[in-house]
Amino acid sequence: MVYETVTDIDQLVARLRSYQPDADLGMIRKAYEFSVRAHQGQTRRSGEPYVQHPVAVAGVLTLLKTDVAAVVAGLLHDTLEDTVATADELEREFGKEVVHLVDGVTKIGKITFRSSEEKQAENFRKMVLSMADDIRVVIIKLADRLHNMRTLEHLGENKRQEISQETLEIYAPLANRIGIGWVKNELEDLCLKHLKPDVYEALRVSVAKRDEDRQQYIQEVGALVQKAVEDNGLLGAIYGRPKHLYGIYQKMKKQSISFDEVYDLTALRIITDTKMNCYAVLGVIHSLWRPLPGRFKDYIAIPKSNLYQSLHTTVVGPKGEHVEFQIRTEEMHRVAEYGIAAHWKYKEQDRIDDKDSKAFGWLRQFVEWQKDLPDNRQFMDSVKLELFHDVVYVFTPKGSVKELPKGSTPVDFAYAIHTEVGDHCVGAKVNGKIVPLKHEVASGDTIEILTSTSQTPHKDWLKFVRTSRAKTKIKHWIKSEEQIRSLEIGRRLLEAELRRHGLAPAQVFKSGQLLEAAKHEGYETADELVAAVGFGHVATAQVVGRLAAPAPVGAPAAEPPSRPKPAVGKSGDKGIQVKGARDLLMQLSRCCSPVPGDRILGYITRGRGLTIHAVDCPNLEALDYDRERLVEVEWDTATPGRHSVKVAVIAEDKTGVLANVSSAIAECQANISRAEIITREDRKAELDFIVEIADTAHLNRVMKAIERVNGVITARRVRSWQERS
Ligand code: MN
Repeated sequence: MVYETVTDIDQLVARLRSYQPDADLGMIRKAYEFSVRAHQGQTRRSGEPYVQHPVAVAGVLTLLKTDVAAVVAGLLHDTLEDTVATADELEREFGKEVVHLVDGVTKIGKITFRSSEEKQAENFRKMVLSMADDIRVVIIKLADRLHNMRTLEHLGENKRQEISQETLEIYAPLANRIGIGWVKNELEDLCLKHLKPDVYEALRVSVAKRDEDRQQYIQEVGALVQKAVEDNGLLGAIYGRPKHLYGIYQKMKKQSISFDEVYDLTALRIITDTKMNCYAVLGVIHSLWRPLPGRFKDYIAIPKSNLYQSLHTTVVGPKGEHVEFQIRTEEMHRVAEYGIAAHWKYKEQDRIDDKDSKAFGWLRQFVEWQKDLPDNRQFMDSVKLELFHDVVYVFTPKGSVKELPKGSTPVDFAYAIHTEVGDHCVGAKVNGKIVPLKHEVASGDTIEILTSTSQTPHKDWLKFVRTSRAKTKIKHWIKSEEQIRSLEIGRRLLEAELRRHGLAPAQVFKSGQLLEAAKHEGYETADELVAAVGFGHVATAQVVGRLAAPAPVGAPAAEPPSRPKPAVGKSGDKGIQVKGARDLLMQLSRCCSPVPGDRILGYITRGRGLTIHAVDCPNLEALDYDRERLVEVEWDTATPGRHSVKVAVIAEDKTGVLANVSSAIAECQANISRAEIITREDRKAELDFIVEIADTAHLNRVMKAIERVNGVITARRVRSWQERS
C-alpha cells in the first residue's frame, strides 16, 4: 500500500484510474482547475500554494478507493469555507451530489469539539449523524484531517496541541469505528508525535533498533512458516507488520510495563486465499510450535464491531521466543485497511451485473439493504455504530432530523417539534402508515404527527414517553388542568354545602367572606381555598363553619332554604347525585364496582372529581383515606341504568349446567356480557359471569334464580373485578 501524499493532478488521476478505469476524469480535472482558481493567492503555513492541500486530501480519498464524486468533493472541500465560491456556483459546475458533500464537510468543520465532555459527546453525535446521512462526508473529513496532521509541524505549539488532542479524541476513534485501520493508526502516531514528542522519539528509536536486531530471526521464522504452509498445499504470503507506536505506548501505559515487555514479540501476518485455509494455516503453525494458552482469538467467527476479521495466535517459536501471528484472507485484509468501503467492494463482486453500484454507490442503497440479505442488515447495524446504540435518528416529513433516545414514541417526537404539536397529537404516521401513539420509532423513520385542536395530553402517555421534555410537558399540562378542575369541583362542593346551611352561594362568593376564610386556613386567595376544597385538602364544612360564625351585622338575608332540584352527576347513565351539587365529575370505582342499591360514598380524587365506592369497599378502608375528602352521595333512583357485576358460580361439573344457569339469568331480564367456565380437578366447575343489572334488588333476584338451578353449589357477587374495554 502506498501511503505517501499526492502532490499533483496527474498522480491523482493515475491513482483514481487504477481502481476505476472508466471514471470521469474530465470532472476531476475541472474540479482541480476550479480549486486552483478559488484558492489563487492563498498559501499554507508551509508556504506551499493552498491547492496542494485539497489535492493531497483527494489523494487520500483515492487510497480509500472512493467514487468520483467524493474525490471531486475532496478537491473542492475548502472552497465554500475559505474562498468566494458559492454553493450555487458549485452546484452549477459539479451538481447537487458534490455540493452536498462539500457542504457536509464544511459543516463538520464548524463543529467544535473542545468543550465540556457532554457537549463533546453531543458534537460527536452530530458527526455520526452526518455519517448516517452520507458516510462519504466523514471519510472526506478524515482525509482532510489526515493531511492536516501530516503537515502539522508548520503550526504553532498551542494550535498543534489543540488539533492533536481533538484528533486523538474524535477523529482517530471515528476512523477506527468505520474500520479504516491504517488511517486510525497513522492519526494516532501523528498525535503522539505532537503531544509527547520525547516519548514518540524514544519509541521510534527503540523500535528501529529492535527491528534491526530481529531482522534475522524474523526471516528465519518466516521461512519456516512459508515452507510448512506450502508443504501442506496451502497458499500464504508472509508479511511483517507496520509499527504502530501509539499502540505500543498505550500498552506500556495501560499495563505499566516496559518497552521490552511490550515489544518482546515478533509479529507476523499471513494472508491466504480462503476462510477455511485461515484455519488450515493456523493448524500448520500450531503443529510447528506450541501455542500460548489464552492468546488465540477467532475474529473470523466473531468479527469485531467494525467488521475486522482475523485469527490471532501467539506461539513459542524457535529459541523460546514469542511470535504473534495474524491470519486472514485478502478480503479480510482489505476490510482491516479500508473498513466498510472494502466490505462493500467485496460484496459487490457478488453482483457483477449491477453496473450502477460504483465504489461508493452502496450508500444510496442503504434503504434497499434493510430489506435485503440478513448479513447486509447485520452489516448496516454495525455501521450504524453500536457506539450510539442508545439513540435513534428520525425524520420530519420535510426531511429534517431529530435525535431521540431509543424507545421513543411519536409523542416524544411531537413534543420534540413543538409543545403545541405534542399537546394536540392524536395519531402518527410512520413511513406513511398509521401507528399507535405508543409505537416505538426506529432510526430512519419518517414521522408525521396528526393533530386535533380538541385533543389534550393524556395521563397514560406518561407510561410510554421516553424524553424528559415530553414528560415535563405532559405533567405540566395535567397539573394546570387539575388546578382548573379542582377549582371547579371545589366551587360545586361549596355551593352544595352552603345551600344545605341555607346560605346563598352567589352572595357568599361575592361577599369577600371567602377571602377571609381563606386567610384563616392559610391560603392567599379565595380561589386557592376553593381549589383546596376541590383537591380534598379542606372540608366544605370547615369552610362554611368559618363563614357562619362571625356573620356580619346587616348582612343581606339568606336565600330561603329551598332545596335545589336533585342534580345528576356528569356520568349521567350511572345515576348518582351528590346532594346539591351539579355537574360533578364522577366515576364509579373499579375496585368495588358499586351498583344502585349499594350504599355508596364519594371520595375526592385529586384533580379528577369524585370516585364512587361502595361503603364496604375493602380498598376504601385500605386507602387510609382522608375523612375530609369523603363526600356524601346517593343513587338517583329516577335514572335507570345498566351496571355490570361479576357473579362467580360453583357447580357440579355436569352437562347442561352452564346452559341452565345462563337461561336462569336471562329469565330475570338480565343480560350476560361475558361467561367463562373452568373445570376443576374435583369434578366441580367454576362459572364466571359478567351480568348487566339495574340495581341490587335486580341482582338479588338473579342470584336467587341461579341458586335454584340444579347442580349449583354456591353463587356470589365478586366485588373486585374490572372489565376490559
Ligand atoms: Mn481542509
